[in-house]
Amino acid sequence: MPQWNCGCDNCREARAGGRVVARTQESVAVSADGSDWFLLNVSPEVRAQIESFPGLWPRAPRHSPIAGLLLTNGDLDHCLGLLSLRESHPLVGYATESVHAGFAAGNVLYRTLERFAGQLTWRTLAAGREQPLGDSTLTVTAVPAPGNLPLHLKGLRPASPEDNVGFVVRDTRSGRRLAYFSGVAGPSPELTQAVADADLVFFDGTFWSSDELIAAGLGTRRAEDMSHWPIGGAEGSLAFLSRLRGRRVLIHINNTNPILREGSAERRAVEAAGVEVAFDGMDLSI
Ligand SMILES: [Zn+2]
Ligand SMILES: [Zn+2]
Repeated sequence: MPQWNCGCDNCREARAGGRVVARTQESVAVSADGSDWFLLNVSPEVRAQIESFPGLWPRAPRHSPIAGLLLTNGDLDHCLGLLSLRESHPLVGYATESVHAGFAAGNVLYRTLERFAGQLTWRTLAAGREQPLGDSTLTVTAVPAPGNLPLHLKGLRPASPEDNVGFVVRDTRSGRRLAYFSGVAGPSPELTQAVADADLVFFDGTFWSSDELIAAGLGTRRAEDMSHWPIGGAEGSLAFLSRLRGRRVLIHINNTNPILREGSAERRAVEAAGVEVAFDGMDLSI
């Protein structure tokens, strides 16, 4: 926000410095000790995001506090940043086999992350299995979420339940848990279970309404066609989120979404439900 080729009301106001604040593409950094950090999705803007947060700065001439990079799916806004972290640094990626293969297989640019043995090590996430995150006290469980293959893989391979997941990250010392679902096409029993007792929930806030792009004359596809559960309406995700007890934060918000506009009716509805709208630099402790 703003989108480079968009002159919608929100994007114009963000450029002018109005009631809409500019934002980078969605990514979350998680740490149990403030020393080792894990990135949940790696946005195309990862370099600027690292520089914006001292916790992610090197502590030696060649060093990075980033101990792992977790991918929820193969959408480019979630994994393209990996290709920007190519400066011969050992990295550890966590993804389902399906997401890993979708990114690495047949991708000639991926070879830039294979220039030496151990440059990028993958840890395969299996749906529903709790697995350790490096040497930290954190664990992660990948939870299949309603979704789809990334656009660039459609028609190339069959869909799998592991093409799109969310994460439950748990600190084994405190028992506290966060749930991270950045792309959700709609409700499911696994999703309901994963967020039920979470202390913090990051949730797909892409679109307010199904026909948001159509109504604005900016596209032809409905939110559901793009595998995003709209926030508003009786069947919307806000009604679902309003029933949870933990802290809830909407992320992955499209530039057209009226919740980005401070004071809008939609923003007020979100706030009235006790749900927050993410912004760059948001700092959350649980
Ligand atoms: Zn726009
Ligand atoms: Zn996305």
